[in-house]
Amino acid sequence: MGQAQPTSAYVHFPWCLAKCPYCDFASAAIRRAEVPHDAYADAVLAELSARDLSGRALVSVFFGGGTPSLWDPAALGRVLAAVRAAFGCTDPIEVTVECNPTSLDADKAARLREVGVNRLSIGVQSLDDARLRFLGRLHDAAGALRALDAVVPVMERVSADLMFGMPGQRAGDFAEELARVLATGVEHVSAYALTIEPDTQFGALHRKGRLALAPEDDFADTFERAREQLAAAGFSHYEVSNHARPGRESQHNLHYWRGGDYLGLGAGAVGALDGLRTKNDPRPERYLAAPAGAVVFEETLSPEDRVREALMLGLRTREGVALDAVRARTGLDPRAGRERAIARRIERGDLRVEGDAMRVPEARWLHLDAIVTDLF
Ligand code: SF4
Repeated sequence: MGQAQPTSAYVHFPWCLAKCPYCDFASAAIRRAEVPHDAYADAVLAELSARDLSGRALVSVFFGGGTPSLWDPAALGRVLAAVRAAFGCTDPIEVTVECNPTSLDADKAARLREVGVNRLSIGVQSLDDARLRFLGRLHDAAGALRALDAVVPVMERVSADLMFGMPGQRAGDFAEELARVLATGVEHVSAYALTIEPDTQFGALHRKGRLALAPEDDFADTFERAREQLAAAGFSHYEVSNHARPGRESQHNLHYWRGGDYLGLGAGAVGALDGLRTKNDPRPERYLAAPAGAVVFEETLSPEDRVREALMLGLRTREGVALDAVRARTGLDPRAGRERAIARRIERGDLRVEGDAMRVPEARWLHLDAIVTDLF
């Protein structure tokens, strides 16, 4: 028998208590009392049982959304147990749940821990009440800090998401918010720039010229200053938007950035197994009605598509793209056909090839999009 293929599992929970104006994830607004906890768990189990997972080894599970912290931990735990069983996994692996401060307290964290969750990723986004209102979030700064303080002592690993690049937000403002988050003892921070997605309320406002973002200089200042502040606090900047204490990097995300296979389950979930990318129907009512036939989109990625994806994801990370691993996976040398662009970028200091790894030095990460585009 060959070696089992390392595979992670992503379970999408498609509801939130309200839709944020900047969000283009597959999520619909729902009242807390109306969440179909068990019906949704049953649907995910039905989808899971229709999947062939032979020859695969589970490396991580991630419950994302939407707001999976709205899901009753017992129902989520049933899904987690079934996913582990489907892979025959008895090893300790990273199991993350995305949470919003409005559906998280010490009791919820303890119940999640009891069913096998060992990592929480909390959507703090900001610790400024006016900015939280601008983002349409339902929590305030005090609520976010309360949730962090409550769960850090209870859960093995806790990550906080923060956003920057909002109008009027200067590097110093963000630094202050970041310092307060770090003081809670989190071991991982994701710092994302606010981006305007076309199919969102912010997208519509932006098109009408009624929504401005932070000027580019403020954005760059914030990115640099946050990096210095997190480095001084002992965090490693291991991906453009992600910082962790040593050894506390997200294994699930690293697997994804390395181009690993992942099983997608749930309404709107995306998966990629052996170069076949699938997307499930994002409408929760449709998914609930026919979970085993949820896949509405399938695409077989060509070897060149897979090389491009490996470059796009791998160059976002400190470790870079493992050239031999990409060649083994796709049958193509990722450098082939790009020799001139690579040489030009190396000369400018935008790219380094060291041994088997090709990577963008951290000091050039602000220019990542242009560098990657050049290699396409
Ligand atoms: S809570 Fe998260 S997933 Fe839900 S609408 Fe807001 S940004 Fe989107």
